Amino acid sequence: MYKKSIQAFKESLEVIPGGVNSPVRAFKSVKCDPIFFEKGLGSKLYDIDGNEYIDCVSSWGPLIFGHSDSETISAINLCSEQGTTYGAPTLIETEIAKTIIDMVPSIESVRMVNSGTEATMSAIRLARGYTNKEIIIKFAGNYHGHGDSFLIKAGSGALTLGLPDSPGVTKNIAKDTMIARFNDASSVEEILNKNTDNVAAIIVEPIAGNMGLVTPNYDFLKSLKEMSVRHQCLLIFDEVMTGFRVSAGGAQELYNVLPDITTLGKVIGGGLPVGAYGGNKKIMNFLAPKGPVYQAGTLSGNPLAMNAGLSVLKRLNLNTFKTLENISAKIYDGFINNIKETDSKAVINRVGSMMTLFFTESNSVSNFDDALNCDTDKYAKYFKNMLDLGIYLPPSQYECCFFSTALSDGDIDKIIKSNKIALKNL
Ligand SMILES: *Cc1c(COP(=O)(O)O)cnc(C)c1O
Repeated sequence: MYKKSIQAFKESLEVIPGGVNSPVRAFKSVKCDPIFFEKGLGSKLYDIDGNEYIDCVSSWGPLIFGHSDSETISAINLCSEQGTTYGAPTLIETEIAKTIIDMVPSIESVRMVNSGTEATMSAIRLARGYTNKEIIIKFAGNYHGHGDSFLIKAGSGALTLGLPDSPGVTKNIAKDTMIARFNDASSVEEILNKNTDNVAAIIVEPIAGNMGLVTPNYDFLKSLKEMSVRHQCLLIFDEVMTGFRVSAGGAQELYNVLPDITTLGKVIGGGLPVGAYGGNKKIMNFLAPKGPVYQAGTLSGNPLAMNAGLSVLKRLNLNTFKTLENISAKIYDGFINNIKETDSKAVINRVGSMMTLFFTESNSVSNFDDALNCDTDKYAKYFKNMLDLGIYLPPSQYECCFFSTALSDGDIDKIIKSNKIALKNL
């Protein structure tokens, strides 16, 4: 069934470290060989053996409208006829900036980059330059890309592979990152009190998605905002995952808490490599060429990527989010039923179209410790069962499903029915 993929992995292992260009793709934590894909159409993915899957990952979030979305594809095609890059200003950059500013409540000015990692790295440099302070507070289990300062108790691939502290990150860099507990404001206050006048920023995934989905408790984000004001540091919301995904204005709109800087990625590129960071004009004008903090990019604001991104952002209206919510709620309800009927030990966290099913004995997962207590072996079996039934899930317990508007009622039925079989056969 997976013969060609198995062979393809053997070959890629010879020339690519670990056979993949991003660790979680290797399927290590689900204990099987990775699938090699050939094409995506709507809600479906097709591998090189000709197997068809209903996709519940959406390339880790970007594909709100599913694969090969016709508007995105024609935006890319039309643009490519005029060339692919000029390394000089274009009108589309101003247009996408205006669109982002209209959509994201706290952003008045925005800089485009090429990945989420680049956005977060640049955001903390800006925060440090602006405040003239050095320490960054981050949360255990939050992932902000692979910048040195963030690979300390990080989630996502780093967590999946059990490399919370990567070799190559120097002690000197690590000492400027302090770790607090997600959903525990007092752990932040403690660090702020011990490091008066030297904390540049608190960076947080407002809805954590890289230890599996973990929602913020009531008032957690508001407390962070209040502390950042009182201690004169900046609050950075890393909305690379949640931006344009949980609502048009991201988690900050959903929870009504406005950060000083927001980082964006994933959806913003409509499937092409894009990131961005933005905030109020006073902070953003601290960037070169207007201000002293340097940050640049040869392909930043690339016209193909801007056109792809804009074609998606333009269509993110209330209807889109209603559709996503309906689809996701149906899947959630079906899974909850299946968990009961099969007497499985599992809980599900969900915000809109982001969702994680955790295999755990406890009745909630609300922080990193809870997440670490999950049964990852069981997840591995569940993942494989679902894969064999034609449902593609994230290949790790510590990631989210991302649903797209391309999922039909038939797809949803099949996902729910397969979930029941997969749970029964654990
Ligand atoms: C995916 C992600 C990143 C990193 O983005 P890349 O484009 O993979 O570099 C950063 N922060 C969060 C919250 C993410 O989910």
